[in-house]
Amino acid sequence: SEHRLADLERVQVLGHGNGGIVYKVRHVRTGELYALKLLHPHHQSDAAVRRQIYREIEILRRTDSPFVVRCHSIVQSGAASGDFALLLEYMDAGNLDSLLRRHRRLPEAALAEVARQVLQGLSYLHSQKIVHRDIKPSNLLVNRDGEIKISDFGVSKMMVRSLAPCNSYVGTCAYMSPERFDPDTYGGSYDGYAGDVWSLGLTVLELYLGHFPLLQEGQRPDWAALMCAICFGEPPSLPDSASDELRAFVASCLQREADRRWTVEQLLAHPFLTRYQSESSLVLKKLLLLPEQCLA
Ligand code: ATP
Ligand code: MG
Repeated sequence: SEHRLADLERVQVLGHGNGGIVYKVRHVRTGELYALKLLHPHHQSDAAVRRQIYREIEILRRTDSPFVVRCHSIVQSGAASGDFALLLEYMDAGNLDSLLRRHRRLPEAALAEVARQVLQGLSYLHSQKIVHRDIKPSNLLVNRDGEIKISDFGVSKMMVRSLAPCNSYVGTCAYMSPERFDPDTYGGSYDGYAGDVWSLGLTVLELYLGHFPLLQEGQRPDWAALMCAICFGEPPSLPDSASDELRAFVASCLQREADRRWTVEQLLAHPFLTRYQSESSLVLKKLLLLPEQCLA
């Protein structure tokens, strides 16, 4: 469908990051809400960053899945012809990072639901030969229907053959897998897809613990400390309160060698997901309705 910027009124800022600012907007005539992400490729002097912006647009144009945030249209923004805005499906319950901060930590049943939906999103993306490469709580969006969708394709790649070293990376390195730092040691038959599984494992662990697992609370995430923790540190362990199934799930994702990690399809049948099959979606929905409450 056709959308013009003039038909949209800004309601509030939803967030900003490396990619650009994101507004909540309302379509004046229909009252429909959207998220509008502004991108300014021509303001970027860095060619690599410019390329990434076009890549994000290209990927969003192609994807069509209930587990991936939908892009309704790409509109020209501003007078400069190089400026774009992505008109995205509005996710009214925010991202998993803010949900975590509201609840301090998330109960296992909700995590099983997060894992199931993100794995379905990854299964779709990987089938389309897209590696997301930036799975982390703030890039997983939620709505009040309890749907979780993968968003932010700012650093994604279509069918990677080469490895992207950390220094060519625009965002944070925190959720990057060991083979992104050291492909010779950890890469095996590297195809990039297993990196998304690593990041999902780290994300689930963070949502359970309430803080980023590879650094001490309060420790500054500098490049060297992170690389050491990811490539050489002991795999982060779960407290006794965690179930055996959750422990096993996280361990299956956080195998340091990419070849030993479970695949997305294997993880979709993991005992952690089957354990909470019947209740997980309800627990997540309740969590979304109960602000400022710790159910963990
Ligand atoms: P970062 O570099 O921090 O990852 P970014 O510039 O790549 O950010 P996004 O991750 O796409 O931008 O969006 C930033 C934030 O804006 C998200 O974490 C989310 O809170 C909010 N946001 C983005 N898209 C939507 C959406 N479709 N619906 C609701 N909120 C959204
Ligand atoms: Mg983001």
